[in-house]
Amino acid sequence: MDWVDLRSDTVTKPTRAMREAMLLAVVGDDVYGEDPTVNALQAKLADELGFEAGLFVPTGTQSNLLALMAHCERGDEYLVGADAHTYKFEGGGAAVLGSIQPQPIPHDADGTLPLDKLAAAIKPVDPHFARTRLLALENTWHGRALPLDYLHAAQKFARERGLGFHLDGARLFNAAVASGVHAREIAGLFDTVSVCLSKGLGAPVGSVLLGPGALVEKARRWRKVAGGGWRQAGMLAAAAIHALDHHVARLAEDHARAATLATRLGHLPGVKLLGHHTNMVFVDVPAARLRELDAHLREAQVRISIGYLPTLRLVTHLDVDDDGLERVVDAFEAFFTARK
Ligand SMILES: *Cc1c(COP(=O)(O)O)cnc(C)c1O
Repeated sequence: MDWVDLRSDTVTKPTRAMREAMLLAVVGDDVYGEDPTVNALQAKLADELGFEAGLFVPTGTQSNLLALMAHCERGDEYLVGADAHTYKFEGGGAAVLGSIQPQPIPHDADGTLPLDKLAAAIKPVDPHFARTRLLALENTWHGRALPLDYLHAAQKFARERGLGFHLDGARLFNAAVASGVHAREIAGLFDTVSVCLSKGLGAPVGSVLLGPGALVEKARRWRKVAGGGWRQAGMLAAAAIHALDHHVARLAEDHARAATLATRLGHLPGVKLLGHHTNMVFVDVPAARLRELDAHLREAQVRISIGYLPTLRLVTHLDVDDDGLERVVDAFEAFFTARK
């Protein structure tokens, strides 16, 4: 029996068809710009999302870092959500490696950064202050697709103030599927966008940074500096192309399974449903029973991620099918109804 792993959508393994595409990939040295499959992936995604250029990189963390370093110089500042990945979950890379100061802004409950708070955080042009240069958003944020009208307003805000506008679109395609629009309608609002292929799309490795040619060239230089200049990466790009061709529309299935999981777990005594958004379900369970629950689920070959908080984030993805979902619900049910 395979494990049902709900810790994250990063755990997906390449399908057989994806592995075949990888096996047959034509490759070259990407530091010389000579890997045809990497070049095809970059051109394909740039074309689909309406950008001049793309850069294939190993991780979303590196993609965001390169974008920040392409937009900002030493001593510049970017406005970012206080709970955003680029600020909170990337080891402080912008500050550590880019000499870029983050200005965190508390999110509203829907994941948006209020424009009045952003406006108040922009520094005057004066030697006392870092130079505010960039606004970075994240979509989806904790599974939430940001409202399209907010994205339009934020774009206008950034334009009027001469700020660059970056999207951490690790799960851009989940946002697009949930919003019922082509991904271009979201991505096209931004100057630069980072997209992960290694999450719900199911590629083993890789992200692409998209933007204007000049910014992407700066990012390419920083990629080399960061040790991200890779060679015959075309085998990984082939997996990414396969993911884009075959795994985008099906994200709707992950969202539907998350909705089902939310409804069915929400009915159990001892489980408090906090919400579900795209492919993520958030529930509270009694903190004192977390370890016991984890051990019980493991016996049913179900993996969850437990911290010290009672809130669980359960993530559906390519490797969770209906049978797997049934096993998860049964295991939760047995745990929460069997004994008092
Ligand atoms: C996963 C993730 C990243 C970074 O991706 P890695 O490939 O794990 O470095 C960036 N932003 C968000 C919102 C993510 O979920």
